[in-house]
Amino acid sequence: CGVYGVWNVPNAASLSYYGLHALQHRGEESAGICTADSTQDGKFNYHRGMGLVKEVFTQDVLETLEGNAAIGHVRYSTAGESKLANAQPLIFKYRKGDLAVATNGNIVNAPSIREELENLGSIFQTSSDTEVIAHLIARSSKDFVGAAKDALQRIIGGFAFLIMTNNKLIVASDPHGLRPLVMGRLGDGYVFASESCALETVGAEYERDVQPGELIVLDENGMTVDRFAPLERRATCAMEYIYFARPDSDINGINLHSSRKRMGQKLAVEAFVDADIVTGVPDSSISAAIGYAEQTGIPYELGLIKNKYTGRTFIQPSQELREKGVKMKLSAVRKVVEGKRVVMIDDSIVRGTTSLRIVNMLREAGATEVHVRITSPPFANPCYYGIDTPDRRELIASSKTVEEIRQAINADSLYFLSHEGLIDAVGGNEGAKNRGMCLACFDNDYPTPVDFSSDKSCSC
Ligand code: 5GP
Ligand code: SF4
Ligand code: MG
Repeated sequence: CGVYGVWNVPNAASLSYYGLHALQHRGEESAGICTADSTQDGKFNYHRGMGLVKEVFTQDVLETLEGNAAIGHVRYSTAGESKLANAQPLIFKYRKGDLAVATNGNIVNAPSIREELENLGSIFQTSSDTEVIAHLIARSSKDFVGAAKDALQRIIGGFAFLIMTNNKLIVASDPHGLRPLVMGRLGDGYVFASESCALETVGAEYERDVQPGELIVLDENGMTVDRFAPLERRATCAMEYIYFARPDSDINGINLHSSRKRMGQKLAVEAFVDADIVTGVPDSSISAAIGYAEQTGIPYELGLIKNKYTGRTFIQPSQELREKGVKMKLSAVRKVVEGKRVVMIDDSIVRGTTSLRIVNMLREAGATEVHVRITSPPFANPCYYGIDTPDRRELIASSKTVEEIRQAINADSLYFLSHEGLIDAVGGNEGAKNRGMCLACFDNDYPTPVDFSSDKSCSC
């Protein structure tokens, strides 16, 4: 998911609209914006809907969302939970006023907290784990900031939170900084976003990344920086660097295009293969393919094209059309790959079905050899922190060796970037474990306790 927050900037809704549009790749299922005027009565105005930002918000709708403060959200979830009731920001009325909550991430212990609260009589309106935080805040006898602090201390997981009341905005990042969140300045106000590309797009100036365990409060007194947890080991999600975030974003000061390019260079050093062209699976692997090509001297070519109008919500072709070879998303460029030995760079192999399809597509277009190079280690363990991954059993790398995966995807050769190669390519803080990254889906070393038996469904 993607979150966006605005404080003390006129017309916060239209700013959020452009910001969320820049974060659209983080979630295409639903979008929402809640605004308030922090200088007046702080009354909430909000709108949420299923679909893309540009589909959910028309000019007319945006004009009803008055105020100089806003939080917004784009959502990406597992299929079963894709419904309007779970669209964020979630809005609540409680005895102290209104509460709007937008989050990116996943609360690992939400099921047990929810059960405890339900046993005490709480009625939940959604199946989203984000609702837990609102209940914890509403039940507390402390003031809003104290209550939010207590609530944040109870939850375990990876999350970037934006919580708005009629006169305050709270911004928080989990104690390991698993999910990215940046702060920017615009005039006298502040803008917060999952990725820095969404600051650029509205002309806000990047100030810094929100730090793990930080709790930032904005109100009529300006900004107060506090913490709800000590800085533990920073463990920013490696998959953000590998494929999720946009290449023009920076996370912890590291540009995504550049780090992906270095991943490609590392792959070239670790697993050179003699070939005629290098191609990347669009969009996420183009940077890495450029790096591989630069390092080896093998020309980079656009061997694969992505149809940019295919979203996750797009109607899938029927089985019959699929068998006829209707390719919704990717096509191979025959004149480019025909008769060529191709190195195909991709970011990850999850189930293996995409890779098999692409390798076969290149072969059908006339490639004589297809060598697959992956910019991450084998993805063998599920994520509990908000990246949508299937069950461990469905992860091809959890049960197959690299050679077995190579056979399953019909490649001439297959190589996964080493842990060290990945860590060096990203190049975070040298003193920190894994240079400040979570690599749990590759090494099973989760930065927080996780409940392996729980339904790890993702709320974000
Ligand atoms: P698969 O191997 O499951 O068929 O698909 C792998 C492709 O899915 C990769 O090309 C990658 O871009 C995309 N992908 C990468 N990471 C994830 C993830 O965490 N979840 C899902 N659902 N897809 C991912
Ligand atoms: Fe990211 Fe993998 Fe860690 Fe999940 S387990 S937060 S996908 S690095
Ligand atoms: Mg991909």
